[in-house]
Amino acid sequence: MSDSENCLFCKIAAGAIPSRKVYEDDELFAFHDIHPAAPVHFLLIPKAHIPSLAQAGPEQAGLLGRMMVLAPRLAIEQGCNPYPEGGFRTLINTGAEGGQEVHHLHAHVMGGPRPWLKG
Ligand code: AMP
Ligand code: ZN
Repeated sequence: MSDSENCLFCKIAAGAIPSRKVYEDDELFAFHDIHPAAPVHFLLIPKAHIPSLAQAGPEQAGLLGRMMVLAPRLAIEQGCNPYPEGGFRTLINTGAEGGQEVHHLHAHVMGGPRPWLKG
């Protein structure tokens, strides 16, 4: 579960498994969700293997802040309509009861005209 060697999203961030890339810098990577729940649906991840938000400590505060600040920029670039009439949903599932299936910290960014598949 916390093994980066067998982690799907580590492999995607490293380019070892193909994805539809949205963004990349030294520490962050974003790619389209393979099963989109909204017209725009991408995942924003740290390149470093952090299993979930439950494992993020004070040393990750800057990284998490940069993820959150990047989300609105990428949302607009990917076609979400501007706030307040448009906007987007930002979701971090954590643990089994939080609905987390892939155990590499990721933020879902979903947007576009309603209705969506979920929500
Ligand atoms: P979560 O339930 O929050 O762990 O979400 C995992 C998300 O990863 C789901 O929305 C999946 O559709 C998505 N996903 C799984 N495998 C891939 C993949 N190879 N490429 C892109 N998205 C994926
Ligand atoms: Zn990983």
